[in-house]
Amino acid sequence: MKPIYDYVLNMSDFKGRAAFTLFFTGCNLRCSFCCNKQIVEGPGRYTLDEMKTHIDSALYFERKDFLERTGVVFSGGEPTLSTYFNEAVNMFKDRPLGIHTNGLILPKYENPFEAVVLSIKPTGQRSGLHNGWYLEQISRAMKYYRGAKHKMIRLVDAPVEGPVDAIDMALSLFEFVPTVCDDWEVYLTKDIRDEAEKEMRWKGGEVCDQREG
Ligand code: SF4
Repeated sequence: MKPIYDYVLNMSDFKGRAAFTLFFTGCNLRCSFCCNKQIVEGPGRYTLDEMKTHIDSALYFERKDFLERTGVVFSGGEPTLSTYFNEAVNMFKDRPLGIHTNGLILPKYENPFEAVVLSIKPTGQRSGLHNGWYLEQISRAMKYYRGAKHKMIRLVDAPVEGPVDAIDMALSLFEFVPTVCDDWEVYLTKDIRDEAEKEMRWKGGEVCDQREG
């Protein structure tokens, strides 16, 4: 079985480190605005063993005590959905680990990730995610990952759903985040932030222009 659709070495997916990002196939959501449909629907092209061999040989000369050690980021799709997720955590646990997740599935063991991006989806009729229920799931995920060194919530616009859903979600989020944990970065697309700021006078978070899943 090949759970990895693709991988990339980059400087942007893990704060402060270079990292190999592994894109797991499959997702427990089917967002209409998903820009990773080919990853979500698979099939995968690499086994975990192939990934391990590739990463180990690419980084053969890297010192194990080097503080800037190259990390491994689990992305997708939704990596926690994979039946290979736990095996992957064990396989790469000697490296700094990062994850990009929608937060709906949580591992049953202590958080092993140093860097976490919770990618929150706009709720609304077409997304099938109920705002209150979804915020509860995000609350659980924020508590689970609270020990991670780098924590970011990312909310992107959803062109197909319409911007109203995303702004509504952002406003709920702004009210909700400080009550759960205030050391999360909040990362919004500019159009959502501009609209939300008008109502909530939110001054935190960074601005990004990318739209991604
Ligand atoms: S946008 Fe993210 S959560 Fe939604 S289907 Fe695509 S990969 Fe899954």
